[in-house]
Amino acid sequence: MADIADTLTDIRQDIKKTALKSGRKAEDIKLVAVSKRQPVEKIIEALEAGQRCFGENRVQDAQKIWPDLAARYPDKTLHLIGPLQSNKAAEAVKLFDVIETIDRPKIARALAAEMAAQNKDLPCFIQVNTGEEAQKSGVLPQDLGSLYQLAKAELGLNIVGLMCIPPIDEAPGLHFALLRKLAGQFDLPCLSMGMSSDYQTAIKFSATHIRVGTGLFGARDS
Ligand SMILES: *Cc1c(COP(=O)(O)O)cnc(C)c1O
Repeated sequence: MADIADTLTDIRQDIKKTALKSGRKAEDIKLVAVSKRQPVEKIIEALEAGQRCFGENRVQDAQKIWPDLAARYPDKTLHLIGPLQSNKAAEAVKLFDVIETIDRPKIARALAAEMAAQNKDLPCFIQVNTGEEAQKSGVLPQDLGSLYQLAKAELGLNIVGLMCIPPIDEAPGLHFALLRKLAGQFDLPCLSMGMSSDYQTAIKFSATHIRVGTGLFGARDS
């Protein structure tokens, strides 16, 4: 089995190649290494290989390993990429560096209150349910405008971009195109989209953050 350092090199090269093909610069695409449910040894391998940006989807899981890792690698950037409950907002603001999953007013308010309490101004993304799937989190495209207005103007959150997870059974490009269009409407510079199976497509559609888990670390513990 290839080690993490080699796989990282391969993925970075692939990002570069894909970026060039799309007339983009690799430096404009951030690889978020999704370390959820991966053994800590593998995460340390990635850190030792120079990877600094990671994604976790559950506050409780991240709390078990990341305080120690953050002490050892203080320049890490940890993204929350899973749904947040308002009773976990304090812990989330304490542990994470970027929140990608603002999807409703209640969460926006809880985060704003915690950022004020902890004197932080973390970059945030709004998650959009581009496929309008009942079971998926994210704000519906037609409700994005009012959530953005609330989060940015009223609550003063540092909204930098949009994030989406396309339906598994649809061509991702349509969803990436929609997310790009929505971000353009609100002048938001960042687009978090694309996972192991579709990050190349996402890069073609202007992703600035791609979230790669199994493609880097291998299968997750279930
Ligand atoms: C798990 C997860 C990923 C990574 O998925 P892979 O298919 O393992 O690359 C990306 N984004 C989110 C929101 C996730 O929950």
